[in-house]
Amino acid sequence: MSKTTTDFGIDSALKTLGVSATNLGTSTGSKFFASGEEIASYSPVDGKLIGKVKATTQEDYAKVMETATAAFQEWRTKPAPLRGEIVRQFGDKLREKKEALGKLVSYEMGKSYQEGLGEVQEMIDICDFAVGLSRQLHGLTMHSERPGHRMYEQYHPLGVVGIISAFNFPVAVWAWNTALAWICGDVCIWKPSEKTPMCGIACQNIAAEVFAANGLPEGICNLINGDHTVGEMMTKDTRVPLISATGSTRMGKIVAKEVAGRLGKSLLELGGNNAIIVTPDADIKMTVIGAVFGAVGTAGQRCTSTRRLIIHESIYDTVKDAVVKAYGQLRIGNPLDENNHVGPIIDTDAVKMYEAALAKVVKEGGTIVVEGGVLSGEGYESGCYVKPAIAEANNTFEIVQHETFAPILYLLKYSGDIHDALKLQNGVAQGLSSAVMTNNLREAEAFLSVQGSDCGIANVNIGTSGAEIGGAFGGEKETGGGRESGSDAWKVYMRRQTNTINYTTELPLAQGIKFDL
Ligand code: NAD
Repeated sequence: MSKTTTDFGIDSALKTLGVSATNLGTSTGSKFFASGEEIASYSPVDGKLIGKVKATTQEDYAKVMETATAAFQEWRTKPAPLRGEIVRQFGDKLREKKEALGKLVSYEMGKSYQEGLGEVQEMIDICDFAVGLSRQLHGLTMHSERPGHRMYEQYHPLGVVGIISAFNFPVAVWAWNTALAWICGDVCIWKPSEKTPMCGIACQNIAAEVFAANGLPEGICNLINGDHTVGEMMTKDTRVPLISATGSTRMGKIVAKEVAGRLGKSLLELGGNNAIIVTPDADIKMTVIGAVFGAVGTAGQRCTSTRRLIIHESIYDTVKDAVVKAYGQLRIGNPLDENNHVGPIIDTDAVKMYEAALAKVVKEGGTIVVEGGVLSGEGYESGCYVKPAIAEANNTFEIVQHETFAPILYLLKYSGDIHDALKLQNGVAQGLSSAVMTNNLREAEAFLSVQGSDCGIANVNIGTSGAEIGGAFGGEKETGGGRESGSDAWKVYMRRQTNTINYTTELPLAQGIKFDL
């Protein structure tokens, strides 16, 4: 008999996180209020109802905005290292609740428990990173062309930052944004995916507890819930200077237009169509692990999932056979059971898209080499478990040009050299993650050169998925061009001001312009 949620500790995890089946929704800090329609969250793991939240109405949103705007007045005046101290405490709380939150992520989204824990670890890591940054929000000092003048730049907080996130990273993406925004002195309003609202409630509870314990205003962390119409409340609102939106390219194009129309700033993290190039000098064992994890990890629902394997003709059959053999060993089932490699995809709509993509690749002339299919029977009652599939395809197929958010891997063959492989890799509209597997220095450097990968992430001898928080994360082209997380991504959450101070009794003009009265 298959195990129940109690066997996997879900009930106690929900209790630890203060998430219950009661109707919670909109929140400023620890104060929940909600009056909209109910959104039910069903687990893709077993199809059971986890809980319901109420969607944010226009009236709820008005309250949130008022509280957030007021909180910003106070929060921005706190010294940045003090804001860092609050983020440090938030990171500590996450450490305490790591197992519980990791379980909820796994249960509500469907990724493996290990990946759920990894997602919470990413939150902890970004908190640590933000704490250090809180003492380094530096600008440059420049030499003025005018005598007796000093010129420098400084960074001030932006105000209310709107965060819209996708279902596949239901907690980490919020933390990437919010930990940085908070140390920068911003306050945040978060609209999680309507497919993972319970993760939103859990994170809100953890953050609100920290702000309340420090006697800080409620409106520094805010949660709104609902579908795109609730997201639009923020994208249309001129009081939200920055919208950080993670999701599909389709969504990004709408949000970009809306926010640009009011001359706001947007940080867009959108779809990928990531490839690994496998050259004749690749280490085949490493290639297989990197490719299989990249293609089936999170059941192919990472923005950085490996969708295309571009293999040199001289080793094509060897790599294909090794990958096909590895797929034969995959165990598909409850992601909370650590014996399984692959869990469910998010819902039955996603299953339909998976099936349609497999039908399309065949229609376009592709050959299925690892058969897909929807699993049924004991343990698969949710209807969301699918078999990871592999198809031999052509880069020009319409379906290959698209991101299908499911475990489908396309094998593409190249002849010639690394530049021929790069033409295929770069020959898609998206530009998020890319990788080359090679022990040949010339190939590796060509891949990283100006004529190389056009993606925001380019890895050598690592797969396409699994970025660290220390680097700036994001992609080019239809992936949206945003950068968040590490490096100097914090600058997006602040406004830059150039200051020139004249400490003389003269008023010389720049460029030597004469203006005598
Ligand atoms: P989605 O685009 O359906 O939804 C994402 C979020 O946007 C949700 O919260 C949704 O309610 C909101 N939204 C949708 N339309 C909106 C609108 N017009 N205005 C305001 N908000 C709107 O995406 P999804 O299915 O949740 O996530 C999968 C997609 O996200 C994939 O394409 C994946 O590649 C992408 N993704 C990208 C990254 C990255 O960093 N590049 C990370 C994670 C996911």
